[in-house]
Order: sequence, then C-alpha cells, then structure tokens
Amino acid sequence: MSFPTQRPRRLRRTEALRNLVRETRISTAGLIYPMFVCPGTKVRQPVSSMPGIAQQSVDQLLEEAREVEQLGIPGIILFGLPESKDATGSSSASAQGIVQRAVEAVRKANLNLVVITDVCLCEYTDHGHCGVIENGEVANDATLEILANQALSHARAGADIVAPSDMMDGRVAAIRAKLDDHKFEHLPILAYAAKYSSAFYGPFREAAQSTPQFGDRRSYQMDPANAREALKEVALDIEEGADMVMVKPALPYLDVIRRVRDNFNVPVGAYNVSGEYAMVKAAAANGWLDEKRTVLELITSIQRAGADIILTYHAKDLARWLRSS
Ligand SMILES: [Zn+2]
Repeated sequence: MSFPTQRPRRLRRTEALRNLVRETRISTAGLIYPMFVCPGTKVRQPVSSMPGIAQQSVDQLLEEAREVEQLGIPGIILFGLPESKDATGSSSASAQGIVQRAVEAVRKANLNLVVITDVCLCEYTDHGHCGVIENGEVANDATLEILANQALSHARAGADIVAPSDMMDGRVAAIRAKLDDHKFEHLPILAYAAKYSSAFYGPFREAAQSTPQFGDRRSYQMDPANAREALKEVALDIEEGADMVMVKPALPYLDVIRRVRDNFNVPVGAYNVSGEYAMVKAAAANGWLDEKRTVLELITSIQRAGADIILTYHAKDLARWLRSS
C-alpha cells in the first residue's frame, strides 16, 4: 500500500501531532555533567577550546554543582588536576587528593547528585599515559593495582559510581575485587568499555592537562575502525563485574552504541566528548549553526542510537532548553 493511501506527512502537519508520535524523547533525567577540579580556592580557569567549561577549585565546583542540581541534572562526573604528578600517578589514590576532596565537599553539601569519578592515571602521571611505563611501553598488569587503589579512595571519599577509563585489560575485575575486599560491594562500576583512540579528545587534554608526553594511546585505546571488537570489550567488562558500560566518543560511534544496546542488557552510557562540544561551539560562535537546534538534534541522535545515559558538556544548556520547551 502506498501513495495516495499512505501519506506520512499527515502526522507531521502540526507541532501537536509531531509531539504525539515522537519516538525519542530526550529529558534531563539521563544527563551527566563532566567537571574539572583543580587546587586552590576561588579558582575558575576557563578552558579556551571549550567555551563555558572551566577548571575550578573545590569551592567554585561546589557552587556549580548546586546549579547542576537545581537544573534537575541527576549527576556529575569528576576529573582531577592534581598538585603534583609523578611516573606512577601516586597522587591519584591519596585520601587528600583533589578529586577525593571534591567528592567529600559535594557529599557534605548534601546535594542530590549522583557523583561519578573518573578512574585513570593520565591526569596524574608526568608522562600523561593512562598506565605506568615499563621498557617504554604502558604496562598493563602493573597498572591494575594503582587503578584499584584509586577507585577505593574515591569510594572512601563518597563516590556513588567509579568509572575506569584507562582501557587496561582486567581493570574492572581488579577494581571490583578491591572494592569488595573493603566492603564496597554495593558500589557500581561504569566501565568505559569501548573507548576509542580519538582525535575528538583534543580539547579535554587541555582541560585535564593530560596530553601524553611521548607516543599516543593507540596501544590501549581502541582502533576507530573496529565495531565487533567493541562488543568483545563490553562482554569482558560485564563478565569482570561492570554494572554499566560506556561508548566514547558518541557521535562518530552511534553504530557502536546501537550494537552494544542490542547485544547487552545493562545500562549503556555514551560520552559526547570535548571535541564534539568544541565543534558545535565554534560553529555556533561563527553563526554557522543554530546552537540549540544542533545540540538537541545531536543529543536526540545519541539517545536514538541506544544510549540511556549521556555524558555531555551541553548538559546545563540542555536542561534549560528542555525546561522552557
Ligand atoms: Zn586516561
């Protein structure tokens, strides 16, 4: 049966009709807002390639976290810029570490926010890699214990979810075992299961000061050409104890999000990364794109692809737009 019996335009005629038959409805309920915490007080250092985003000291971060809560955004994910870096990222697991102090401050303020912490070494190592270096290479197994200790310190500080992003093999199992050994068996793990070696992380590295000082991350992050391998990574992480999985970046990997959604029955997250954000901001600043329409369409596409949870720097703007629409 086709034209003239079938006229798909009938259901597009008015906004009320379009609203009624809309398949994907985005809301603030699935959004997570990423934040960068740095030492000091009253520090708010804007990230030039990410307009609207800043590195902030704990006091400032707390102010913005209140705003995030008031906007109805359910959670934040924290990245730390430590006072000092060394070869093994030892400050990453300190009880007085920058992320640990930020988590404690948010907890103490009694904010109704899910606090997620990024677990990785690249922000804490002087060489900027996500693991320790042995013989010029990122050593997998030697990194696991350090990551597990970092995750434990985040749990002790009051994190609701720990999210390992390093892409070492076996890290989820190592973190799960460490948490369970210390009575944090209730604490969920959100694994960056399919994290690709991507050009879209550029602005983040300015924000988190985590650029590798030699080489690149292709020996541990995934090859952008591989989708079947993403399913293998996700399966392994779930087997090791991941409660939720993530695909990162989001927009160049919508097909991967869809395949993960179709193949696994755990919540699926997608990280709309810094470069995706920067592209929109730059084009909007030049008047080349309508920012609001562009962001709503992009976030809709990520959810339509199958993401339940979306980590995005647009979260605050989105919450305002969705509230007023
Ligand atoms: Zn890393």
